[in-house]
Amino acid sequence: MSVRVRFAPSPTGSLHLGSARTALYNWLAARAAGPEGTFILRIEDTDRERSTPEHVDAALRIFRWLGLDWDEGPGVGGAHGPYFQGERASRYAAHARELLEAGHAYECYCTAEELATRREGHAASDRAWTYDGRCRDLSDAEREERRAAGTPASIRFRVPTGRSVTFQDLINGESSFESDLLGDFIIVRSSGDAVYNFACAVDDALMEVTHVIRGVDHLSNTPRQVLLLEAMGRPVPTYAHVPMILGPDGRKLSKRHGAASVEELDRAGYLPVGICNAVALLGWNRDDDTTVMSMEEMVEAFDPARVNKAAAAIDYRKLDWINGQHLRALEPAAFEAAWQAWADRWLDPQDPRNAGAASVDAATVRILVQEKVARFGEVPGLLAFLASDAAIAPEAWEKLDAVEPLPRVLAAASEVVTACADQDRWSPEAIEEGIRALVGSLEVKPRELFNPIRLAITGQRVSPGLFESAWALGAGTVRDRLEHVRTESMDRRGAASGSTDR
Ligand code: GLU
Ligand code: ZN
Repeated sequence: MSVRVRFAPSPTGSLHLGSARTALYNWLAARAAGPEGTFILRIEDTDRERSTPEHVDAALRIFRWLGLDWDEGPGVGGAHGPYFQGERASRYAAHARELLEAGHAYECYCTAEELATRREGHAASDRAWTYDGRCRDLSDAEREERRAAGTPASIRFRVPTGRSVTFQDLINGESSFESDLLGDFIIVRSSGDAVYNFACAVDDALMEVTHVIRGVDHLSNTPRQVLLLEAMGRPVPTYAHVPMILGPDGRKLSKRHGAASVEELDRAGYLPVGICNAVALLGWNRDDDTTVMSMEEMVEAFDPARVNKAAAAIDYRKLDWINGQHLRALEPAAFEAAWQAWADRWLDPQDPRNAGAASVDAATVRILVQEKVARFGEVPGLLAFLASDAAIAPEAWEKLDAVEPLPRVLAAASEVVTACADQDRWSPEAIEEGIRALVGSLEVKPRELFNPIRLAITGQRVSPGLFESAWALGAGTVRDRLEHVRTESMDRRGAASGSTDR
């Protein structure tokens, strides 16, 4: 069965996670249909003040980055274009004319002030105000009179009375709305601009959309769009209204919860597949046991009818965990390319906090952090110790001071480092071998050995592994740091015992 789905963003700001998930579900639905599936990207740029070319470019970049490629839309064309609503005005005008001629729509001459006055007069009653139909049944002569007076007209849809508008929703089941609650709504403003519901219905019809997967915030628009499609004699698509994404506190997801847009997640260093995987799971899963999925695995398993009805709350720790799994699964070359691409975009080498991470190549970063981080944003902190001027953190000193055999251990470690370098065996494995041998030769406990050396050379409570860190620093720096901590620690001990003597 042919599946034609569309994602229809309004490019008025950054891509919210809810929208990203809606885009993903559309893409998955199209790809799940194989060659029969078409993913359309339609830009709803009718809000001329808020839709900017920069927002459009940013949105396209983010879709490409996420891996959500489209079959019809900006940049790729297609048989149903143009794909910018701003370029489709003549189509909306033609369909409005047809609806007028068929009697499904009529001109309304009420001004904004008149409507406001009537709405105020209505305020006391219980039902929400809808257009009162003042221009619905004007005679031809009355219309001529209004036009002659130059009153600018909007076009309203003549909503059939007493109808129950029913449509299929894959997620929420069959939904029904009473047409009498809708009121005759405007489809074309007096300025000539088509309003959202009308443009959307015309486009879904002309683009032969079979499934409309969109946010549940559009549910109340659907009966209007269904009535428009019926009046135009077009098939009504199947709908799937996706629930909202909530913040961890159960309230609507927003900035105050942390990253709420894809761009922020990119900046924080999540992988596209990690983001897609985590947002896909907010409302859908393959089965109760599967968490980590590749794009291909999601395509294979996705079914819009299995999306949950209830809103899901985002869990940033789960996002971290999922992304960490994807990071670890990357082949070396893929990890390095992803790191490099991220660093090129977000790692400012002038920022002193980035000095360590910026001082090494992508392969070194991989060796140090691939098993350690959940996202690239953690890398600069973890690699701060690589900066030439990195200091020993006070918390690291607290730990070092508590290690009784510290001076002996550090002196011996320094000899291991010298030996490895002199024998041209400068690798994490050779350093590990040499250091491990010290447990026996120095007769110390492992905990008196590895962690103190690691703290001495990185100065950080949290760092990559000891042997990889030593290797990345180079023999000269490691020796300098070991020696520095050794002498310093003896001074500290001297000072401490001096004070207890008294
Ligand atoms: N342009 C609408 C929005 O950004 C989407 C409309 C639709 O999917 O029908 O919310
Ligand atoms: Zn009117």
